[in-house]
Amino acid sequence: MNANIQRILDKATAGERLTFDEGVALFDCKDLLALGRAADVVCKRLHPEPYRTFNIDRNVNYTNICAAVCDFCAFYRKSNDADAYVLPREELYQKIEETIALGGDQILMQGGLHPSYKLDWYEELLRDLRTRYPSVNLHAFSPPEIWHFHKLNKLPLRDVLQRLKAAGLGSLPGGGGEILVDRVRQAMTVNKCLTDEWLEVHRVWHELGGRSTCTMMFGHIETLPERIETLDRLRRLQDETKGFTAFICWTFQPEHTAMAEVHPAGAYEYLKTQAIARLYLDNIPNIQSSWVTQGPKIGQMGLLFGANDMGSLMIEENVVSKAGTVFHLSLDQIKSAIRELGYIPRQRNVFYQYIDGEVSGQWPVASGQWPLASGQWSVASAKNNDVQTVPLGALRNLSVLKSAPATSHRPPATDH
Ligand code: SF4
Repeated sequence: MNANIQRILDKATAGERLTFDEGVALFDCKDLLALGRAADVVCKRLHPEPYRTFNIDRNVNYTNICAAVCDFCAFYRKSNDADAYVLPREELYQKIEETIALGGDQILMQGGLHPSYKLDWYEELLRDLRTRYPSVNLHAFSPPEIWHFHKLNKLPLRDVLQRLKAAGLGSLPGGGGEILVDRVRQAMTVNKCLTDEWLEVHRVWHELGGRSTCTMMFGHIETLPERIETLDRLRRLQDETKGFTAFICWTFQPEHTAMAEVHPAGAYEYLKTQAIARLYLDNIPNIQSSWVTQGPKIGQMGLLFGANDMGSLMIEENVVSKAGTVFHLSLDQIKSAIRELGYIPRQRNVFYQYIDGEVSGQWPVASGQWPLASGQWSVASAKNNDVQTVPLGALRNLSVLKSAPATSHRPPATDH
């Protein structure tokens, strides 16, 4: 082991913040297991409890019509394309009702950047769903969509977010993060928000008291320092707002995209990058492993490389399947993957509150409740009136494919 890399790993495991250069230097580490061990130490310090978590939600892609062009996206269509769609409301209701029946508590609702729908269309959609399904969290509209609403409606960003929040928006997904470096974004996308704009959407949402996730899609045209720059931008915003609940990274899936010539990153690169993210992002409490793109075995290994969460059961997987790569897991498989590692599987919601009713106590979710310097968590009061208790026993052996075929769009892969 290179002495400098060992020093950096020791620094991170001791709870000290890494510099940008130290983050970049970790990519020189050829000892994947050493990186994983260090990330696991940090993960266990942040999450000493004997649980590892998952959630149950559904991707609903309300439209594939998009005013942007992203070379890495196999999902978008133009308005006059034969297979362009806007999901009929009845179909949307049906998907949500199936999700509730399967124990899900949330829908991840995203779509293309529709060129003509005004803000009141989205407000009406949220109000309708909030009224019909008050227990379902609407985790909706990635920053590129929100920025698009802001531009199209010629309204201040804060007003857009306030109106959506008032209409029922529950939390913001972190799609469209890709790499937070304008050189990369401008090379791969047209008519889509740039780095500062993506961050500004989160900043304002956090200032309004909202919570969101953040993402990184890597393994395409970015350099290794640009991966660290992405993590650095996220860390700096989190220092300001403390509004990110979780970080998720995954590798670019090039099949059927305009970047099909890119050689896809493998498991080594995925685990290495995720471990480095855990070491670098000292202020973002949770990291999800990405079994959807990496497969169940690597997804499980992700829990030893800095992740404390298996992500979603993913009742419906869309974008990844458009891009060619998709894995399916049953709830029992997710729980078994967690148990094999010696942890107790727990279902949680988007705020990382346990919602399986098996053990009392909540994760910190309210403003200002984040990991303490000691590595322990401050304790949040459990005011989760809208959290439902889910009969997990009813979900045994459920296959995600049984409930819904993959037909539309999953932003964590398209990275909208
Ligand atoms: S990734 Fe999102 S913004 Fe980009 S083309 Fe696809 S649907 Fe549109």
